[in-house]
Amino acid sequence: MDVSQKQSDNFAAACRMTADLGLLRCSSGNMSWRVGDDLMLVSATRKWLGDLTADDISHVRISDGKVLNNSLPSTESLFHRGILKKRRDANVVLHFQSPAATTLACGNPENVNFNVFVEVPYYIGDVGIVPPAEPGSQELADAVIDISAKHDMIILKNHGLVAIGKDLNETIQKAAFFELACDVILRGGNNTVPITPELVDRIKQSAANKAV
Ligand SMILES: [Zn+2]
Repeated sequence: MDVSQKQSDNFAAACRMTADLGLLRCSSGNMSWRVGDDLMLVSATRKWLGDLTADDISHVRISDGKVLNNSLPSTESLFHRGILKKRRDANVVLHFQSPAATTLACGNPENVNFNVFVEVPYYIGDVGIVPPAEPGSQELADAVIDISAKHDMIILKNHGLVAIGKDLNETIQKAAFFELACDVILRGGNNTVPITPELVDRIKQSAANKAV
């Protein structure tokens, strides 16, 4: 299957938007997008998403990881591919490193209640957490792929975040809302009061009903 110029341009524009929103800096962060049954676009290795062009995109076969053009994919493409294989309902994976969310990822995120405003339970749901592991390693990829079965937002401890979604905008929005929630938590400190568990459940239920 061929990748159209329009698909490449749309993907590059979405990558640049992640940087414009402050979700990552320089060469940190990478994104993938399923564009066919067995084909994904991935930002190329060491490229800055903030100035990514259609020439900086790797075409990778999802089933076996074969690179189909002459751009090498991001070193984190192991988990991008694994997530898209496992999650047939998802088409986009964004690995990002925004300031507030990364701050909490470098502490004890297990102890944080992220449900501080409605967008978190509605758009993001429960957050998964994986232990520190070497970037680009099979160990990290396995942990992220495994937990992605149940979570659209994953904290990689002492590293960053992974957001999973249906399309480019929806996934970027999840990352932006999550960053805002983490910022609210850090700025508010003890004054931040999470939503009650009962209301969180109702909001999640309403999101699930809408999704059907
Ligand atoms: Zn990384």
